[in-house]
Amino acid sequence: MTAHRETPGRGFVSLVGAGPGDPDLLTIGGAARLAEADVVVYDHLANPALLSHARPKAEKIYVGKTTDRHTLTQSEINALLVELGLAGKRGVRLKGGDPFVFGRGGEEAEDLVAAGIPFEVLPGVTSAIAAPAYAGIPVTHRGIASSFAVITGHEDPSKDGTSIDWARLATAVDTLVFLMGTGRLAEIARQLIGHGRAASTPCAVIEWGTLPRQRTATGTLETIAEAVREAGIEPPAVTVVGEVARLRDGLRWFDARPLFGKRVLVTRTRQQASDLSRALAARGAEPVELPTIEIVPAFDERELAESIADLKSSGFGWVVFTSANAVELFAGHLRAAGLDARAFGRAQIAAIGPGTAEALRREGLRPDLVPERFVAEGLLDAFARRVVRGQRVLLPRAEGAREVLIDGLQGMGASVHELKLYRAAVPERADVEGLRQLRAGEIDVATFASSSAVRNLIAMLGGDVEPLRRVLIAAIGPVTADAVRAAGLSAAVTAERHTIEGLVESLVAHYAGTLTR
Ligand code: SAH
Repeated sequence: MTAHRETPGRGFVSLVGAGPGDPDLLTIGGAARLAEADVVVYDHLANPALLSHARPKAEKIYVGKTTDRHTLTQSEINALLVELGLAGKRGVRLKGGDPFVFGRGGEEAEDLVAAGIPFEVLPGVTSAIAAPAYAGIPVTHRGIASSFAVITGHEDPSKDGTSIDWARLATAVDTLVFLMGTGRLAEIARQLIGHGRAASTPCAVIEWGTLPRQRTATGTLETIAEAVREAGIEPPAVTVVGEVARLRDGLRWFDARPLFGKRVLVTRTRQQASDLSRALAARGAEPVELPTIEIVPAFDERELAESIADLKSSGFGWVVFTSANAVELFAGHLRAAGLDARAFGRAQIAAIGPGTAEALRREGLRPDLVPERFVAEGLLDAFARRVVRGQRVLLPRAEGAREVLIDGLQGMGASVHELKLYRAAVPERADVEGLRQLRAGEIDVATFASSSAVRNLIAMLGGDVEPLRRVLIAAIGPVTADAVRAAGLSAAVTAERHTIEGLVESLVAHYAGTLTR
């Protein structure tokens, strides 16, 4: 993949388009260059989340934004890139949007050429097209717009000697997209109207396009400057002028998703967080992962060996799993003992819900019983319709789990053998950024998929529940909601279906009909 530019011992600089903000809009080539880089030079319009593609050891140099004291001037940046090349490094210059669209990438390339440093350009998705697209505005549209222009709004249109020919621009192109023009909108509109563009031409200004904080103001050439002022829209923003801006009403999609703009705390284990994060992101939310649980294996060797031996010799009529963690740990112990799924023999298997059932399926096991309600009480209801009297039931699970299941099964005449496998411990090293956001009131919703997640998060907050009073709390089921209540808080949302997908659906239902921005 890199052969075309490999010169041993020589530096190489890739000018990489970072895309407009949404990390999904980085190109595959851009991600590959980041992964190979010794040094990444980036600025404020390149999403810092993209740095996760780089090696942890790669040096990351922030060259700032225009109003920041960490800023390097353009010629200092150019010199830095040349220096990297001369030092034999692989440098990535990560630039917001496309490097050659008002990115001064051309100037950087010129200096690299002058210094004899080999380089390449990986184009990026420009905000000029992507921000309108995420606002539901195509820059061209059959029958409405067959041309578009991308224009800098940075120049003062009223001053003499501007390089923009307003008289020709105003009516020559169907769609006009202005970058960097937020501060001069009134003057831009005046120039366009003055040169023959209809005052009623639809306009849209999109701030922080493609990101969860995207906001859009709409109006006409006559009203847009005022609309932007009223909405408090600030740079970075893209301005679209033209009939296509009208299409937003029908094509709006990104900011119309039910959880758009909501920052949602995901408190599951690091390993289990991604399902929930994905489901939330698909509805437009911004997931913030703050793992509150670390699975710490905790079991008694002898008890474990005895349980496995019992299972093998058909000593149990049922094995009941109440979490995916228990399934994975138990299966791991079987493997370590040189066994596989056949160790279950004729024992029947119960799973408390679909997540646990899925974990079983991954281990090649199909549960015989999954209740209608995914709580211990639901399991008991299901068992009430079967004969468990006189049977031995193996219950591999976490320390400190509720007693209802044991009591209930024993009440039905079963003899329950609890096998403690793990502790849902507070992570040794907490995710500082997630905690900071929660404390700073930057989180809208906190989700909990277990009571231990509730208790552990409060422990991580040092017992202070105040930050949780400012968020909407969503619990996966009644037991978790009880744990929330026990902490003196209340869950505004309790999922109807006690699954991850059900949790997200109930959250969506809660917000239904309320477009946030
Ligand atoms: N090379 C970049 C543009 C750099 S100039 C590109 O191709 O997108 C900086 C201007 O880009 C900003 O002032 C703003 O007008 C626009 N811009 C960049 N990212 C943006 C975003 N996420 N949303 C809206 N405008 C953006």
